[in-house]
Amino acid sequence: MKHPIYSIATATFIAATAQQAAATSPPPVYPTASELAASDQLAFQIVDQLTGDVGQRLAGTDAEQRGRDWAIKKLNELGFANVREESFMMPTWVRGYDDVQIMSPVMLRLKATSIGNSSSGQVTGDIVYFKTFDDLVLAPDERVKGKIVFVDHQMKRTQDGSSYGYFGRARFQGPNVAAKKGATAIVIRSASTGDHDHPHTGNTNFDAGTKAIPAMALSNKSADKLVEIYNASPYKKDAFIKNFTLMVSSGSKNIGLQKSGNVVAEVVGSNPALAPILIACHLDSWDLATGAIDDASGCGIITAAAHYVRNARTASPKRTIRILWAGAEEVGVWGGKAYGEKYGSEPHALAMESDFGADRVWAVDFNLPDSAKPLQESISRRLALLGIVPRKQKAGGGADIGPIIAKQGLGVIDLQQDGTRYFDIHHNATDTIERIDKDQLRQNVIAWTTVLDEVANYEGELKPEAVKP
Ligand SMILES: [Zn+2]
Repeated sequence: MKHPIYSIATATFIAATAQQAAATSPPPVYPTASELAASDQLAFQIVDQLTGDVGQRLAGTDAEQRGRDWAIKKLNELGFANVREESFMMPTWVRGYDDVQIMSPVMLRLKATSIGNSSSGQVTGDIVYFKTFDDLVLAPDERVKGKIVFVDHQMKRTQDGSSYGYFGRARFQGPNVAAKKGATAIVIRSASTGDHDHPHTGNTNFDAGTKAIPAMALSNKSADKLVEIYNASPYKKDAFIKNFTLMVSSGSKNIGLQKSGNVVAEVVGSNPALAPILIACHLDSWDLATGAIDDASGCGIITAAAHYVRNARTASPKRTIRILWAGAEEVGVWGGKAYGEKYGSEPHALAMESDFGADRVWAVDFNLPDSAKPLQESISRRLALLGIVPRKQKAGGGADIGPIIAKQGLGVIDLQQDGTRYFDIHHNATDTIERIDKDQLRQNVIAWTTVLDEVANYEGELKPEAVKP
């Protein structure tokens, strides 16, 4: 790959620019974002190698460990400091076989996948149809008891991805609700906007004391087929559909506590009195694909940005930049929680996360103190050159930085990516390197480099004022 050549060329260019500036007059010439990262190759290289050399990285498995081993080697090769693995134990679920078939009124095999924490088992029985997740919640127990629940909760695409939280409830909570009402299994329409035949997996949780049931998701195409057959069925007027039977079979299992871990690396700042900047992505992926957009690209973006900030100046940035490649995000943010516990009492200034694919950044949100208004305006001006709009919405961060933000009330900047096609690809078999648009990925790196360069060299307060009760 061409990265080392690019890096030396960039460093030479920056050094020459800095020398020129010194020879004429201050203030120093700050290289623009496009000069720093305009020809980035590193982010794509990281995605390509992580997905191609390691493959899927299901949390708690040997595959995820191979991902950590690769990450440590790569971050060392790139010259980051204090590269280390910080392991923790976590309950682990693995997939076996997946099978869903309509048995009556016609026989038809559907494209299905088990949802994380699904129990194993094979169930054949009548289905009970719910148009939405809320219909399932409101249904009396006797309507559900002994039946296979089907939730036809169709998610639509949005630029900001906000439909996932609402429509995803069928997956996040549906199995637990169905199990409590006495269902024998649950099948949901994928929490996906893809009109393809690839089912969407992801995690679900059963309350302690609630017996887990087989929980599976159908591809949108297969869900359409099931609904078409249901609508043609003479039984559909019944409260539940007699003789409309499904066979649901999952070979997945929980294998107890297994080792997972975070990978941490740093660019050591020149002023140890200043609290560090934390930037995060997650290293684990679901097992149906290689996790190119979720979240190898996030790791590529943040790492490339830190690399350019470090290489752009003759001196280190003033603040330390800590890179967190979190483990086991998909199955319950175990890595983010482990980081929050380990470093909860160590001061941090600001946190950022990249975990929404590789498509372009379209907006930026801030949560900074009033005193940092000039910084915020400077960042906004520079990001405007990339077509990024500052919003009034307060930045909230992401899953992996959530625990440390909650403990310390950190400054946060969110670079909001275009999520229009994210949920076509997310958590299904199509999440591979071919989905990455290199130009959009590079725009992310430029935006990230711009912001990181500003905040890592900012000496003022970055934590927002504590909100008075
Ligand atoms: Zn993710």
